[in-house]
Amino acid sequence: MIEPKIRGFICTTAHPAGCRENVRNQIAYIKKQPATKGAKKVLVIGASTGYGLASRIASAFSCGAATIGVIFDKPASGNRTASAGWYNTAAFEEFAHAEGLYAKTINGDAFSDAVKQEVIQMIQKDLGKIDLLVYSLAAPRRTMEDGTVVSSVLKTTGEPYTNKTIDLKNRSVSDVTISPATEEEIADTVKVMGGEDWQAWIAALDAAGVLDEHTVTVAYSYIGPSLTHPMYLNGSIGMAKKHLYETAQTLTARYPNVQAYISVNKALVTQSSAAIPIVPLYISLLYRVMKQKGTHEGCIEQIYRMYHTMLFVDPPILDTDGCLRPDDWEMRPEIQEEISRIWAILNNENLEQYADIDGYWEDFYQMFGFHIPGVDYQADVSAEVQIPSLSE
Ligand code: NAD
Repeated sequence: MIEPKIRGFICTTAHPAGCRENVRNQIAYIKKQPATKGAKKVLVIGASTGYGLASRIASAFSCGAATIGVIFDKPASGNRTASAGWYNTAAFEEFAHAEGLYAKTINGDAFSDAVKQEVIQMIQKDLGKIDLLVYSLAAPRRTMEDGTVVSSVLKTTGEPYTNKTIDLKNRSVSDVTISPATEEEIADTVKVMGGEDWQAWIAALDAAGVLDEHTVTVAYSYIGPSLTHPMYLNGSIGMAKKHLYETAQTLTARYPNVQAYISVNKALVTQSSAAIPIVPLYISLLYRVMKQKGTHEGCIEQIYRMYHTMLFVDPPILDTDGCLRPDDWEMRPEIQEEISRIWAILNNENLEQYADIDGYWEDFYQMFGFHIPGVDYQADVSAEVQIPSLSE
């Protein structure tokens, strides 16, 4: 039996049967929607959890695409379970192969030249070219080619910023002050989460001649309402996202066969967003308000709607800055006005009434394969699961 073990923002165990069910549910959702006439040969960087996994599932099961996924996950060893992304990927390949869909995975550091070359060889051998690259990396650090490690920080810029935050474990709200990042920390965060590595991927793929004459590439970003701006949009991570946006423009201008987009996605519970101060409180209010209005979506609903109604339509539906905006429902005035109203009066007495803390925790557990309806958690289960293409 495998049980959740929570340490700070993460769960150090993952459940293979739960993760498999999670992937199966996402595929089932996609199959209920109309198919998408989209990309056919897709590379997803950061394909094992969150938005990247949803992109791989939507590519395969809505567009019928062959997929190569780059992941950075751990298999089970000793008495440790594998990471959730490992189990998700094993399940994804199993379901894709069962339908005759090509699906292979490379487990390694996407920032490295070695992994880029490995992917290129795989494309050359199996697919010839790709027509979509989804860049969905969320990493706390990056190892440079000379071995130096650069870390990203989640801080504000300019002045210290104080606002409410949630302690999810104790289900309480308190004030937190975020200190500003130094110039060096901002530059490092841009190195890790900005567009440099995305551009390096496109440059390497282009030099190897494995980009289709009409290649689309998409990277993910977040904007959110003004109450999160000091922490996100104008914080160190926002500086990296600004660089990502500029990179999209550079790529489109530099490569005649490449159209690069930023997709601004909804705030959701993922392993990455759980670590950002203030944002989890906002997410728990957002979940409550959007569920009440019947417009709540998870990663798979977001990516499907982005693919089907914004990206793979002719012409793509973009905002005035040229971005895809599946965060449109989150940003609706009636949603944001309600959150602002609640935010102003929120305290420890009314927190449970306004914040969807249970919904937050359910999503959190489910990311690691726990609390998934229909899974027998009392049953004996082996933590050792193979990813088919990695054991060939
Ligand atoms: P996530 O943590 O679920 O996914 C990150 C993925 O990157 C995982 O598959 C992980 O294995 C992979 N990864 C990390 N380091 C790697 C490395 N060195 N090499 C290869 N793979 C590596 O996070 P997510 O929230 O889905 O984030 C994906 C993107 O979406 C990010 O750019 C994030 O900023 C953006 N985004 C997230 C939200 C949100 O609320 N979660 C909202 C809008 C945009």
